[in-house]
Amino acid sequence: MTSRSISFEFFPPKSVEGMSQLASTASELATLRPHFFSMTYGAGGSTRNGTVEAVTLLQQRTPIPLAPHIACVGATREQMVELLQLYQTMGVQRVVALRGDLPSGMGQFGEFKYASELVAFIREQTADQFDIEVAAYPEIHPQAQTTRDDLLNLKRKFEAGANSAITQYFFNPDAYFWYVDECARLGIHMPIVPGIMPITQYSKLVRFSEMCGAEIPRWIRKRLEMYADDMPSIQAAGYDIVHELCERLLKGGAPGLHFYTLNKHEPVMAVLENLGIVPSKQSNEYLLKSFSDN
Ligand code: FAD
Repeated sequence: MTSRSISFEFFPPKSVEGMSQLASTASELATLRPHFFSMTYGAGGSTRNGTVEAVTLLQQRTPIPLAPHIACVGATREQMVELLQLYQTMGVQRVVALRGDLPSGMGQFGEFKYASELVAFIREQTADQFDIEVAAYPEIHPQAQTTRDDLLNLKRKFEAGANSAITQYFFNPDAYFWYVDECARLGIHMPIVPGIMPITQYSKLVRFSEMCGAEIPRWIRKRLEMYADDMPSIQAAGYDIVHELCERLLKGGAPGLHFYTLNKHEPVMAVLENLGIVPSKQSNEYLLKSFSDN
């Protein structure tokens, strides 16, 4: 039976209430026994303490392995060494290595220019201590000079020592399948796990997608616009759209799913329930009942 990994991404909350909501969301999602939880990191170190605090909280509250994100833009080597040492002492075994985007007003790039340099640095400093995840872009990173350059960048990240990639979210499964095929043509045969964004609020989704270069297809825009402020209808349509996307990805051979939870469990649970996903008794990976080989 084929098993595929499921993981959930959170962000570090800024308030005590946010932390408590995060703890309860993570406890709900922990019952599904995901492969790992990941925790975002504000580029330029803006959420460094918040990320460490939120990782510590979830380590105490759930048995699920934590994968903190590390964004190197604006950072020095010394700062990265300190952070890696801290995660080693906390028993962290997986990190998500990123460049990040400099917050406006922060002019300095720091000692790392690209995520591939961070991956190489992590390997140099800590050998095989961490599994390293990196970012991939089926719709191509907005700053890439060319499509081929962006594909070659992913190859560089794997050559530098990454184990697996998680994609930016997208709503067109063909973009993902094309991307994976192109990667294979370039000799990349490592797991590229689709990043899935549940649809719950239309205007927020539009804003966020413009920022990160993710395309919302016209048919999805039109369908969601039709509901205006009717939140229950937007959410119902959102569940359908994301469920269908996940189904196509899994049927097409995606090695797992990584959900951008936005610190909420209901939308993700709804999609997973519809997919008929059940936790495996043998491992902490999911067995996808509906998509198994036999
Ligand atoms: P890189 O891989 O360094 O690529 C950045 C750009 O540089 C690309 O256009 C690439 O083609 C180009 N490039 C790379 N190397 C070269 C080279 N040698 N010459 C010329 N061009 C080159 N951001 C955060 O701040 N915090 C987070 O926690 C966070 N989590 C994320 C998680 C996932 C799964 C994803 C997909 C993104 C996440 N991001 C996060 C956003 C990410 O930091 C941004 O998309 C950022 O703009 C690029 O980061 P990267 O690691 O992909 O950079």
